[in-house]
Amino acid sequence: MNTIKKSNIGMFDDHYLGSIEERVIRDTKAAKAAGAKVVGVYCAFTPKELVAAAGAIPVALCSGSDIPILLAERHLPRNLCALIKSSYGHAIGDSCPYFTATDLLLADATCDGKKKMFELLGRKRPLYLLQLPQTAATEESHAYWLGELRRIKVLLERETGSAITDDRLRAQIVIYNRLRSTVHEAFRLNMGEIPLLSGRELDTVTSMAGFECNLHSRIDEIEQAIAAARQRGRDRQYQAGVAGRPRILLTGCPTTNRKVLNLIEDCRGVVVAMESCGGLKTVGNLVPEDGDPLANLARTYLDIPCACMTPNPARLDLLRSIIRDYRIDGVVELTWDGCHTYNIEAFQVEECVGAAGLPYLHIITDYSENDTGQLKTRIEAFLELLN
Ligand code: SF4
Ligand code: SF4
Repeated sequence: MNTIKKSNIGMFDDHYLGSIEERVIRDTKAAKAAGAKVVGVYCAFTPKELVAAAGAIPVALCSGSDIPILLAERHLPRNLCALIKSSYGHAIGDSCPYFTATDLLLADATCDGKKKMFELLGRKRPLYLLQLPQTAATEESHAYWLGELRRIKVLLERETGSAITDDRLRAQIVIYNRLRSTVHEAFRLNMGEIPLLSGRELDTVTSMAGFECNLHSRIDEIEQAIAAARQRGRDRQYQAGVAGRPRILLTGCPTTNRKVLNLIEDCRGVVVAMESCGGLKTVGNLVPEDGDPLANLARTYLDIPCACMTPNPARLDLLRSIIRDYRIDGVVELTWDGCHTYNIEAFQVEECVGAAGLPYLHIITDYSENDTGQLKTRIEAFLELLN
C-alpha cells in the first residue's frame, strides 16, 4: 500500500501517480503470468465490468501525448482530433507499453473519426467494435445496446475461455460501483467554500493509472488521498492559498492532455470540477446491483451524456447541477480541434451557462504547445472577469 506524501502544495503529483503505476504494473504482471488477458478499451461506453468478469484486465488506451501524432498522420488526416491521432500513433509505433500489453481491443462506434480509425487499428490487434446507438432516448436503442453487450459477452468468453456468469458480473458491478462512488467522493471534496483538491490533483488522484487490476487497492489509495486532502483542508495556510481563486468548471472533450487544465491553474484559477469522461459524466450514475446484470449495464452505460448522442439533454442537466453544487464562477469548454460533435454542442452549452448567469470561454486547440501563449492571454483575461 502506498503512503501519501503530506506536503501542503502539489500533494498528489506525478511522483505520487508514478508510485501507483508501479504497483498497478506489478499486479498486472502477476495476473498475466497466471493467464489473465489484457483488453484495451477506448471509450467510456465500454462496460469494463464485462471484461473483468471474464477474468481479463481492462486498460484505457486514449492517449494525451503529442509525440506519436506525426507518425499517425502518415495514415490519418491532419485535421482529425488529437486524441484519435495520438492513440493510433502509439499503436502503430509500438510506443505505448499499455497497448503493447493488450491481447485484444474493444472499441465503440462513437464519432466518425474514431470508428474509421478503428478499421485501421484492427490490423494491429483483434478488435471488436460495439455498435453504439446514436440515441439513448428510445426503448429500441436500449434493446439494441443490450443485444450488443450480449454479443461482446460471447466474444469475451471465447477469447478468454472463461464463462461470464451472472454472479461474476454482479460481483464486478459491485466493485466498479464502489470505485465510481469513491471517485465521486473525491470530486465532492470541492463542493465546499474551500476546494480541497486542485483540478490537477483531482485528475491524478482519480486516474486509473493504467491497468485496472486489483481495484480494491486502487479504491484504498483514493480513499487515503481523500483523507489526506480533508486533513490538509483544515490547515490555515492552505486555506489562505486557495481562498478567493476563481472556481472553474472544465467541460467538453476528454481532458486526455492537461494543457488547458494546467494553463487555467497556472493563471490562479482552480478547476473544482470536470464534467468530461473520467470526471463527473461517468461517476454520477451507479449500475443497479439487483436484477439482470447485463440489462443493468446496458441501461446505465447508454445513458452516459456524451456529445456523440443526439439529442443529449442530460449533459445540460448535469452541467446545471455542477454549476449549482460546486459554486462555479465560470465555465471553460475544451474542444479538441477536429471534434465536430463537441464543437457543435458547444453552442447549447454556452446558452446553458449564460442562462445560469455565468461567463463562458470556449477553447479549441490540439496537443501541441504552439498556441500556449495565445491561450494563456485568453484565459488570464477570462479569469480577470471573475475576480
Ligand atoms: S467523449 Fe464520448 S466518445 Fe469520447 S471517450 Fe467519452 S464517451 Fe467515448
Ligand atoms: S474528442 Fe471528439 S473527435 Fe475526438 S475522439 Fe472524442 S468525440 Fe471523437
